[in-house]
Amino acid sequence: MAATSTEESDAELLERFDNVRLDHINKHLYRGLLHKELRLSRCSDCGWWHHRPKPICPNCWSKNLVATPVAGTGTIHLLILLHQGPPAEGVDYSTPHPVATVELDEQEGLRFTSTVVGADNDDLEIGKRVELDWIERNGKPYPVWRLANDGGGR
Ligand SMILES: [Zn+2]
Repeated sequence: MAATSTEESDAELLERFDNVRLDHINKHLYRGLLHKELRLSRCSDCGWWHHRPKPICPNCWSKNLVATPVAGTGTIHLLILLHQGPPAEGVDYSTPHPVATVELDEQEGLRFTSTVVGADNDDLEIGKRVELDWIERNGKPYPVWRLANDGGGR
């Protein structure tokens, strides 16, 4: 992916994400986070999306992958309430802490996992519609899910 002048260099990325094992395959995902864009790998030959980033398209084995922003809408596919876990900024395991794997509208089986904000845990259910939102964590934008207004939850 061609970097524009407003995009961070690889060196800047390494500095901002010093707690992440960055490589040339996943760097586009993390660079996107700084711009509040969830950029997932999409094959420019067959159009197949995949996540986590891989060096070749799992569908057609092409290396022509482009980090492409998703619309950020989807459905809760899997929901976990964590009562304990590693200490993390803004994470309260006493509530407990919700983690949702969301199936994105772009493609069946394309899923992205994060916490859900702005809702009581009792209102979270598999099958509910969610939208991508962003919070600040460790000084950087962090993608999270929020119940969609059309989800009937709020
Ligand atoms: Zn492909």
